[in-house]
Amino acid sequence: MGRPLAYSRRSFHSFVGVTRTVARRRQIYEGKAKILYEGPEPGTLIQYFKDDATAFNAQKRGTISGKGVINNRISEHIFTALQTIGVPTHFIRRINMREQLIRQVEIIPIEVVVRNVAAGSLSKRLGIEEGTQLPRTIIEYYYKDDALGDPMIADEHIACFGWATQDEMNDIADMAIRVNDFLSGMFAAIGIRVIDFKLEFGRVWDGDYARVILADEISPDGCRLWDMKTNQKLDKDRFRQDLGGVEEAYQEVARRLGLLQPEDESAVLDFDSHRKKRGK
Ligand code: C5P
Repeated sequence: MGRPLAYSRRSFHSFVGVTRTVARRRQIYEGKAKILYEGPEPGTLIQYFKDDATAFNAQKRGTISGKGVINNRISEHIFTALQTIGVPTHFIRRINMREQLIRQVEIIPIEVVVRNVAAGSLSKRLGIEEGTQLPRTIIEYYYKDDALGDPMIADEHIACFGWATQDEMNDIADMAIRVNDFLSGMFAAIGIRVIDFKLEFGRVWDGDYARVILADEISPDGCRLWDMKTNQKLDKDRFRQDLGGVEEAYQEVARRLGLLQPEDESAVLDFDSHRKKRGK
């Protein structure tokens, strides 16, 4: 190749001292709210948080402006804190506003829902008024399959179809309870009641030995969070039920967790509209 043209973009950037590295990344998976890319080292992935929102098994679709940025921060905050109390998670480190480096796991095809207060599908299925405090915490399992609408399953199905071993299920139930205790305390301290939430787990292999760790994300997308004083919903139910103030609810959770200063709020929103304008 000959010398680069004197006014090529590359020489201009070299001239002004800007090095731009545009990584060519392989997309591994695109979900409703996240994209996974191949990570920089074997056994790692990059998790990108989108602003897209879906509900009712993707029958309702929309965008929550700035959600990806906020969920990236909230999930990082919670996973980092969980690691300090000994709950292993896939989180490694934040890369930028919308991306985090995570460990690659073999996802266990089960959604684990923990409930403290009746709401959502529990209220609907069993006719229990939303907001009723449950006498004890309930753990439910759903089979992760969009085409089937994520049906509820029992331990017996998990064992019968080999989705996880009994030991793995014991670890999962223990971790789910620990996460619930931790989240309930953490959110109570900032005036938020944890009604219910969904967790996902994955296997990491160490030779022949597999260990289960917490995967996916924990954010207002997969939790029901109510203001303790007013019972105002600060989560994705605002989108599901067309309650309005969706962006503000996510921002409020981030703000109370100390992750968003009042002056940052417009920056989060501007960032996203800026990205849209550029057609990205
Ligand atoms: O709809 P349902 O009441 O079963 O949801 C229980 C909890 O699990 C809610 O916090 C909801 O946000 C979460 N969930 C989720 N993803 C699903 C199903 C439920 O994050 N596919």
